[in-house]
Amino acid sequence: MRLLTVALMLLAGCDGGKVPPREFDGASALRYVETQLAFGPRIPGREGHERTAAWLDSLLHARADTVLVQRWVHRTAAGDSLRLTNFIARFKPAAATRLLFLAHWDTRPRADGPLSRDSTLPVPGANDGASGVALLLGVADALKQLPPGIGVDLLFVDGEDYGDFNTDQDVLLGSRYYAEHLAPGPQPRFAVLFDMIGDKDLRIPQEGLSLVAAPDVVELVWNLADRIGHGDVFVREEQGGLTDDHVPLQRAGIRAIDLIDFTFGGPDNQWHHTPDDTIDKVSSASLQVVGDLALALVRVTKP
Ligand SMILES: [Zn+2]
Repeated sequence: MRLLTVALMLLAGCDGGKVPPREFDGASALRYVETQLAFGPRIPGREGHERTAAWLDSLLHARADTVLVQRWVHRTAAGDSLRLTNFIARFKPAAATRLLFLAHWDTRPRADGPLSRDSTLPVPGANDGASGVALLLGVADALKQLPPGIGVDLLFVDGEDYGDFNTDQDVLLGSRYYAEHLAPGPQPRFAVLFDMIGDKDLRIPQEGLSLVAAPDVVELVWNLADRIGHGDVFVREEQGGLTDDHVPLQRAGIRAIDLIDFTFGGPDNQWHHTPDDTIDKVSSASLQVVGDLALALVRVTKP
């Protein structure tokens, strides 16, 4: 394994470093999904949320150069107080050229999607929540193994999925908080949000608001996906704009795009926000594809 990696790196060096070697471990990323599901739903205020926070905190401290923790209390529309936490795992915190990768680590309190069979249950969040977190943790593992030449920030946002997307109330809480309290120092060249990227039947089109705010970043990512052999997953089709964690970042002046497969279970997105967002719907192969892309992005970005 090690030899193969070295040989590939030498090869890559010979042809101008065009295709970085494969470093991401999809099987281990799937285990990160399993661990999160074992904690139970990661709903702010519940035990599973608290235990996941402790787990993230310890994993990130063991991998990143520094970890910033943002804690605050959000007052919901219903008058409840939610204790929320963002984690920012920083690699090369002083580097001027940086990339920001983010995912939400909370899960939705109620499975109230239009096609849900039972809206009284919580969403397990194997794909909507755990897949993005697993992706970032797999990236952290690889960057610990071989530190990046540029700065990388891995942002785990809380409270994305708590409230009502129709009224825009009590949603995207962590990304909003982050956008109002940006990490100190140089800001990222661009940011990539990973959301619902573990679907077995993975297909990622170009999300509309990403195309408006950062078309060149979309082009860069899709070209790189082609080059590393994942053009079958990163399809050149447009997906209508989505309210997601990239939006508050865009409003703060960060060129952020959203990688998301919003056809979870089929064209009707039938497992989204339902009790059926379970681990059997997620695969290590899909996590591998997106993990390859994320790490390739880090390795091809020149300081
Ligand atoms: Zn969601």
